[in-house]
Amino acid sequence: MTTLSLYAPGTRVYLPSDDSDGCWITAEVLSCTKSADTLTLALRDENGKESTLTGSGASLPPLRNPPLLESADDLATLSHLNEPSVLYAVRTRYAQRKIYTYSGIVLLAVNPFEPVAMYTPEIVKSYIGRNKGELEPHLFAIAEDARAAMLLDGTGQTIIVSGESGAGKTESAKLVMRFIAAPKAPGLNSDKNSFVDGASQVEQQIQATNPILEAFGNAKTTRNDNSSRFGKFIQLLFDTNQQIVGARLRHYLLERSRISYQTRTERNYHIFYQLCAGLPSEDLQRLGLDADYSTFHYLNQGGPSTNELNDRDKFHATQDALGVIGIDPERQTSIFQILAALLHLGNISVTQTRTDAIIDDEDPSMGHAMEFLGVNPADFKKWTIKKQITTRSEKIVTTLTAPQAVQVRDSISRFVYACLFEWLVTAINESLMGKYGDAAARAETCIGVLDIYGFEHFDKNSFEQFCINYANERLQHEFNTYVFKLAQDDYVKEKINWTFIDFDDNQPAIDLMEGKLGILAILDEESRLPLGSDASFLQKLNAQLDKPANKAVYKMPKFANAAFTIAHYALDVTYQVEGFLEKNRDTVPEEHLTLLTSSSNPFLREVLDTALHRAEPADPPSPNGAVSKVPDPGRTSLAGTTGRGTSVKKPTLGSIFKGSLGTLMDMLRMTNVHYIRCLKPNQHKKAWEFDPPQVLAQLRASGVLETIRISTAGYPSRWKFEDFARRYYTLIHWREGPTLMKREQWKRICALVLQKAGVDRSKHQFGETKIFLRTGVLATLEGLRSTK
Ligand code: ATP
Ligand code: MG
Repeated sequence: MTTLSLYAPGTRVYLPSDDSDGCWITAEVLSCTKSADTLTLALRDENGKESTLTGSGASLPPLRNPPLLESADDLATLSHLNEPSVLYAVRTRYAQRKIYTYSGIVLLAVNPFEPVAMYTPEIVKSYIGRNKGELEPHLFAIAEDARAAMLLDGTGQTIIVSGESGAGKTESAKLVMRFIAAPKAPGLNSDKNSFVDGASQVEQQIQATNPILEAFGNAKTTRNDNSSRFGKFIQLLFDTNQQIVGARLRHYLLERSRISYQTRTERNYHIFYQLCAGLPSEDLQRLGLDADYSTFHYLNQGGPSTNELNDRDKFHATQDALGVIGIDPERQTSIFQILAALLHLGNISVTQTRTDAIIDDEDPSMGHAMEFLGVNPADFKKWTIKKQITTRSEKIVTTLTAPQAVQVRDSISRFVYACLFEWLVTAINESLMGKYGDAAARAETCIGVLDIYGFEHFDKNSFEQFCINYANERLQHEFNTYVFKLAQDDYVKEKINWTFIDFDDNQPAIDLMEGKLGILAILDEESRLPLGSDASFLQKLNAQLDKPANKAVYKMPKFANAAFTIAHYALDVTYQVEGFLEKNRDTVPEEHLTLLTSSSNPFLREVLDTALHRAEPADPPSPNGAVSKVPDPGRTSLAGTTGRGTSVKKPTLGSIFKGSLGTLMDMLRMTNVHYIRCLKPNQHKKAWEFDPPQVLAQLRASGVLETIRISTAGYPSRWKFEDFARRYYTLIHWREGPTLMKREQWKRICALVLQKAGVDRSKHQFGETKIFLRTGVLATLEGLRSTK
């Protein structure tokens, strides 16, 4: 088609909007004239305003799709693929209350921000056994797709749910899990509130992980009232009969700073408020707590927090769930006692003489905290206001200032909480896997769901954002690799005709962050120096990284001091170095560690033991010594914080995180991956409000457009000649049967099959060893085969 006819009068196009928000308005071409290479268009926009525009190629306005296609189920079917069309399609569908849209292999999910009747038992049932394109786009279709792929050949599956905070990842992940764990026999899903009525014990235990993890790992933030402050991976394990035999849970980087500090309007982890709202008054009294929690420093920094109405109900749900995974009321009491101890710890008052910190021996908060932790108050006090430095020849004890002592106090709370979380995850795994890990041994295959924090950028970004964005860079890279690189590399290897699509490879940013001489390495080196500081860390960064080779990814910001900028795949983010070292080291003083590990509270000792002793294999060995066939993303380990054995380097938080991301990526590569991208339609959590620039930014950051291009332009199905011939030879009456098939006949059989099935030449290509098929071809062949 010539460009002239593309812009014939009546053609609908998009023009940049005047609001300079990077979005578009629609317009219609009134006339079009051509001179040399340029076109001159007369246009009328949706507000009736007329204008003319002269341009060529990419400077001409993007084309709008015919009305019928404008709200297509799958963006890959749009005849004009451009940013405004994609945005418009998602927006139109959302206005029609359709929150799900396919985009090639990705499912886009726009948060409705109010309960929707899309997850009823009837709807669950309707998606079981159906192919992805048969019904309206849905989370359940992706879940069913994963299940079907697993059933087909036993390959492990992973569903990655991503998106920014409040976009709906956790809700989506829960729905997917419930769908997969739900009994598949019709007639079992009669309960309105849950589609796991009639669920087995394992299935109930799997559901019980949600209230527990949310109570201990979620908190109210400015962007989401129930924000997950850790990354979560749950893997359902299936035996040869496709029955769930167990599950395993892995977690990533719990936000620790929240224990001792919250910004205004934010809260600490839900469990603390639940405890105060839900415990009977005699228990509250025994623990020195009160339903009014505003006296606690760790709970009142966010300001007069709207007393969440359902904290009390949620507490009972948490208790029930703990019971389901086998934590009896006595142990629950032990957990609550530790939590109470942390609240009291935060209230220990540290004052200051002219030079030194002091804590009053009679401080009632210290009394409570130490009683519950089982630690001698005098010892605690001593090592909170003093510090011991060991030099080669002697030990020197120095005094701390009040702010330093408060730092020590808070580091203990953060450490104990992190260990408690770790212990809970272990307890959950024991319940999901059987104490001896026998589920792992019986498992043949798996479906995992990854719910991990999306890309973050705030006015001030710190170590936490650095880690989160690092994780997102790696996930994005896997996505790129999966969708683009593998496809294209294969085309090259097989020498088929193919035009390359440019995609934004983010390897340079990853190297910058995790490479041998990258940011994490420099941070670790600096964290190990006794006199290391955030300032010297930044100096080293600039000295080593501010080079022409890194120009595209590393920048020294012009205006911000004490900060560095990384050009991420999504956006440039400037990180303030303040606190990087402290957060990366994340240690409690050696003396405090000794006090805690020799506590008179046996439960606390068990918690610390569990969290710190991680030399064991990823799963406990099964009684019969069988090894799991299912790829495991591995455990995290807090072992580094023990400092056991001075010759061993303590792992820093950064290096622990890097390690667990590495094993996660290995696991992803061993499974089939499915993607759900959650989108947040507006910043005020308003139902059915759609803010185009905001969604556009998220669409760009997730690489959605490129994915569509590749799924339509490429050959999503590829088969080895032999496999293809063996599967479809029946279509051509190959009398000798598969056993007599000779190597040199494979390709010929493939050609005959395609000819017989009437597959158009534009829909397939022969590579060196494989046959490449466009979308839809395989469905045709399968149809023919099943009627054979
Ligand atoms: P974070 O990264 O902060 O953990 P998230 O992406 O996990 O955020 P969710 O907690 O899943 O976000 O969702 C935020 C809120 O959006 C939910 O509490 C709920 O109110 C609403 N929401 C999300 N998905 C749905 C849905 N499918 N139906 C109705 N409401 C939803
Ligand atoms: Mg979440």
